[in-house]
Amino acid sequence: MPYDIVIGLEVHAQLTTRTKIFCGCSTTFGDAPNTNTCPVCMGLPGVLPVLNRKVVDCGIKLGLATGSTIAGRNVFARKNYFYPDLPKGYQITQYESPLCSRGSLEFLVGGLPKTVGITRIHMEEDAGKLIHDEHDPVSYVDYNRAGVPLLEIVSEPDIVSTDEAVAYLKALRQLLVYLEICDGNMEMGSLRCDANVSLKPQGSSAFGTRTEVKNINSFKYVQRALEYEIERQRQILDSGGTVAQETRLWDAQAGVTRSMRSKEESHDYRYFPEPDLVPLEVDAAWIELMRGTLPELPLARRERFMRQYALKPYDTDILTQTKALADYFEQCVQLYDAPKDICNWIMTEVLRVLKEEELASLKITPAMLIDLIRSVHNGVITASSAKEVFEAMASTGSSPGEIIAKRGLTQISDETELRELIKAAIEANPNQVAAYRKGKTGLAAFFVGQVMQATQGQANPRLANTLVKELLEK
Ligand code: ADP
Ligand code: MG
Ligand code: ZN
Repeated sequence: MPYDIVIGLEVHAQLTTRTKIFCGCSTTFGDAPNTNTCPVCMGLPGVLPVLNRKVVDCGIKLGLATGSTIAGRNVFARKNYFYPDLPKGYQITQYESPLCSRGSLEFLVGGLPKTVGITRIHMEEDAGKLIHDEHDPVSYVDYNRAGVPLLEIVSEPDIVSTDEAVAYLKALRQLLVYLEICDGNMEMGSLRCDANVSLKPQGSSAFGTRTEVKNINSFKYVQRALEYEIERQRQILDSGGTVAQETRLWDAQAGVTRSMRSKEESHDYRYFPEPDLVPLEVDAAWIELMRGTLPELPLARRERFMRQYALKPYDTDILTQTKALADYFEQCVQLYDAPKDICNWIMTEVLRVLKEEELASLKITPAMLIDLIRSVHNGVITASSAKEVFEAMASTGSSPGEIIAKRGLTQISDETELRELIKAAIEANPNQVAAYRKGKTGLAAFFVGQVMQATQGQANPRLANTLVKELLEK
């Protein structure tokens, strides 16, 4: 029986604030376990949480970027459950009145536009981290992450394929990074995804029973976990069974999802308004202040790049992948109006270097790249020397001028010098000269090659070619 796939994603994004959501502890990743803790994030009696204003800033920015309605009055709630990674015995989150609601995210899937509704975006605190090792009889807990701020972004069940799910997640990650509110690092857990999926008979309007798969920490695993889960549900439904509503865990090693627990209901958590925090008022002035900080968003920037610089869609996708790279490109264009050449240099040489390092630590500034491109355009160096200069710039950070001078790479465009070299080549190769004069004009390339060899590739190739023909035809 053919089925329609229905997918909704819940994404937790760790925010890039310096301190935690309700205390002044550092959010730095990778510090020694339990060093970034205090009585507030440890839930000791008698302490009070104080909301970090920056967390609200981040939430408002994402709300605006997704066209959400931003709530004027926000109430925090306690979600109660016991688990060793949760020292207070409850998580402070938002329940009935999330910061943002009814937004949407537009992105491309295989070149075509798709819009997914965003049900809600709310602020909450992260739990600590449990560390289990199969060879160790004890488990460890690190509370450095307890109280780190999160935005939970819940999508509508608008996603109809695993490809769309991955594209949505990539677009959301790109947006969070553009807004500079999350570093987007899935391996380090800065972006975590729970995937809800169900099947329904093709064309039917009623949704089937869903399962929720947790613990997915890469785009590849989102795809694989969903594919596995869709196939599992398909087999159950085909054989006349019913899918159990449950929470399942993605086991990346085995490549399967496993039942973890039957689905909890919200009343299981005994939500109630957080008595230690006053309701948060977000006024229009605050929203406008945040609107003023929004960068041009990815999709808009992509469209503008194609229009303004006449770049190919593929190149544009890559150039606008991150705000940092798009900014780098535009800084270059501002210095020198040669978008096509700048694009080519970035797509090939710059991106090759960036495989090894971050753009922030790239030694080649836009001004240096432009100097280099100009040197080629002005005939100072050949295109092949330019590659060498680029390498040297990337490793030493010296300017193109310094490198060209130090390595003696200046292109030879001196006619007298080139004529001498060509004459020598003509004298040394009488057979080729005769053949050329009998009509094998392709041999011009042979003589240009001789000149290149004699100058270690530094002769101006176009000029050499003209002079070779002139001298051979004499
Ligand atoms: P909970 O918090 O209990 O997981 P939510 O109402 O917040 O429940 O929904 C979680 C996610 O499940 C949302 O992203 C939603 O789009 C998705 N979802 C809801 N119903 C279905 C369904 N039948 N099939 C697939 N996804 C669904
Ligand atoms: Mg859920
Ligand atoms: Zn703390």
